[in-house]
Amino acid sequence: MERDYLIKPMLDESYKIVSHGQGVYLFDTDGKKYMDASSGAVTCSIGHGVPEIIDAMGKQANAVSFVYRSQFSSHAAEGLAKKLSEITPGDLNWTFLVNSGSEAIETAMKTAIQYFQEQNRPQKTKIISRWMSYHGITLGALSLSGHPERRFRFQQLLESNPEVSPPYCYRCPFGLNPASCNAKCTDELETAIRRTGAEHIAAFVAEPLVGAAGAALTPPEGYYEKIRDICDRYDILLIADEVMTGIGRTGKTLAMEHWGVLPDIVALGKGMSAGYAPIAATLVSDRVMRPIQQGSKLIMSGHTYSANPQSAAASLAVLHYIEKNSLNDASAEKGKTLMKQLQKLQKKTSIIGDVRGMGLMIGIEFVTDKATKKPFSKACHLTSRIIKKAQMNGLLVYPAAAGIEGGDGDAILIAPPLTISEEELTELVRLFSKTISEIE
Ligand code: PLP
Repeated sequence: MERDYLIKPMLDESYKIVSHGQGVYLFDTDGKKYMDASSGAVTCSIGHGVPEIIDAMGKQANAVSFVYRSQFSSHAAEGLAKKLSEITPGDLNWTFLVNSGSEAIETAMKTAIQYFQEQNRPQKTKIISRWMSYHGITLGALSLSGHPERRFRFQQLLESNPEVSPPYCYRCPFGLNPASCNAKCTDELETAIRRTGAEHIAAFVAEPLVGAAGAALTPPEGYYEKIRDICDRYDILLIADEVMTGIGRTGKTLAMEHWGVLPDIVALGKGMSAGYAPIAATLVSDRVMRPIQQGSKLIMSGHTYSANPQSAAASLAVLHYIEKNSLNDASAEKGKTLMKQLQKLQKKTSIIGDVRGMGLMIGIEFVTDKATKKPFSKACHLTSRIIKKAQMNGLLVYPAAAGIEGGDGDAILIAPPLTISEEELTELVRLFSKTISEIE
């Protein structure tokens, strides 16, 4: 076999080459068909090969593929920013375009710090985050991320450590019921703020539903309302990391809309272009932009490819497609169907401890004993066995962390394209059920 030239995530594994994709399916060069039940990394939310998106990208490439953001803007980038302001709630009316979710988080961090600098409060620089979280792989975003496995090699380069526990209702540390707990876990944010002093804190960042670091951890009733209130009382900005949850994944454009909570800054990525081109965004509210507009007027952030017209055209076409086909509602409806089917499967199997999530973002946590919720030992490599077995069965699911030691347990995410049909959903559950029965 020819040697490798491309660095891939696992150097000792062989990776199949995908020849093409259509709808919810990918096909490798051996002709094997895979149902993409995780939309890649929860990204390809409208499926593969959608002609409208390919046309829009072709037209943009014909017109112009690249203009540099400090010299020119483009219709595509301007149109995308306007569209994002229209489809998101409140006064999230400003968009800074970047190329990845990590960059969107970095920009959110810098914007929050600058917001206070412009008001002569330069000491407000710290950003509080939660354990069991993932905000990106660049050093700023990684320092906020409560994901020990991704942090430990680079710990000496990381500026801060997460301080707050996530809302993990399946393993509530207080032993409370989510229906009546009054979101007690939010107390930890207040404790963390008091420990550091609000005068040193710029923002609190959270994923509305925790993605890969918690397998769709879903907050209890009232959680984000209380978080918003704490941020307001201590004059701290609320950054919603909607890189995974945004753009319809949970049944609304932003997951925060489920609770009527308006963040000050939002990071978007993944579903924004549904994988057709690399693009991500930091949305900033009018309130946060105002002191910057009235102050230095300078945005010291950005990348060569920021606001790339080709990517912006792809993203704008994706947003139109989602709207035209009512895919937010489809995600909510199909998510209910999928949740019911997976909960039915949970009852039949011995290893599915919890099924959680919203819309088409569903997390499944595995345990050796449902009564005690005991996780599998690390040596079992259960998640990777499930993923490999599913792939052999023609089903792609996404690995996630869960469990008592902040990520040592086994879990996966199921997040198919929002365009998945009822028949395909049934097929998804059949393939997953087959996989679990072969693992048990
Ligand atoms: N934030 C969340 C919630 C994510 O899930 C991810 C990626 O998985 C990121 C940020 C980082 O995005 P990217 O991989 O595009 O840099």
